[in-house]
Amino acid sequence: MALRTIADVGEFAFLSRLLPRLRAGRGTVVGPGQDCAVIECGGRWLFTIDALVEGVHFESGWLAPRQIGRKSLLINASDIAAMGGQPRFCVVNLGVPPSYPVRDLHALQRGIVAAAARCGASVVGGNLTRAARLSVSIALLGAAPRRLVTRQGARPGDRIYVTGTLGDAALAVRHLSAGRAGKLPVHVLRRFREPTPRLHAGRILVESGIVSAMIDVSDGLHQDLGHVCTQSRVGAAVRVDQMPLSRAYRALLGADPWLALQGGEDYELLCTIPERHVKKLKGLHARLACPITCIGEIIAGRRIQLRDDRGLITHVEASGFDHFRMRRRQGS
Ligand SMILES: [Mg+2]
Repeated sequence: MALRTIADVGEFAFLSRLLPRLRAGRGTVVGPGQDCAVIECGGRWLFTIDALVEGVHFESGWLAPRQIGRKSLLINASDIAAMGGQPRFCVVNLGVPPSYPVRDLHALQRGIVAAAARCGASVVGGNLTRAARLSVSIALLGAAPRRLVTRQGARPGDRIYVTGTLGDAALAVRHLSAGRAGKLPVHVLRRFREPTPRLHAGRILVESGIVSAMIDVSDGLHQDLGHVCTQSRVGAAVRVDQMPLSRAYRALLGADPWLALQGGEDYELLCTIPERHVKKLKGLHARLACPITCIGEIIAGRRIQLRDDRGLITHVEASGFDHFRMRRRQGS
């Protein structure tokens, strides 16, 4: 009989079995399953790791070497943003094919260092290994805020908010895959190539004390909201007609929200806010320095309802990108 593979089981089913078996050692404040672990070690820290792999997250020619470096760091910083922290130190592992030009490796490394510096972090070590395809893994430590916000605090009645706009990075991937990137405005391609972690907004939202749960939208709104629902043991009603879509997205796809729902790599923040705090959020708008839009409400139950102005469209289960089921090509 053939051995079951990780593709048979799927990323999330595998993780849901693995994580409960990991014993939290001394100094673990929040263990696995969140955007970052929280550890106590001469202060309180957020700890996270992520990777960019050629052939999985990007294809050759989609990103300049410097952009690969930048993006590897920025997707990690987005996890720190999701818990309101401040990036500080990182270590880098580069997996590099022997044929990779040294010039490009320098550019890639400069991309990492520059992006780290811009986030207030420094590269303090790393490793270089031969690999079949290019991959960059970064482990990032961030200073933790005084308040802890995880994916677990959402309650029925809380409003669901997202920063910025959704779907542009997925739109860029769709065009890059089809060899039609030239037809997209540069700023849309930039949403894929140079994501902006919402560090400032994340910090303000957490410090304000009004947020009950938060996550960054890396694998698609549908799936990441699904993580909040699963971990908070609630459901959600999303108004798809109120999802924030960019002008470029609307110009190409009209009001069709599906790519914005299912796409990935937005690196925006999704948070839930109890109704009694919604007024306070209005007072914070100017300080956030980015748009924030209410897209629905947490409800009892375990499913995500998609609604428009005429009512219920459909129920969906939490899904999106599973690395080993390959429903989509992108995501992280
Ligand atoms: Mg995340």
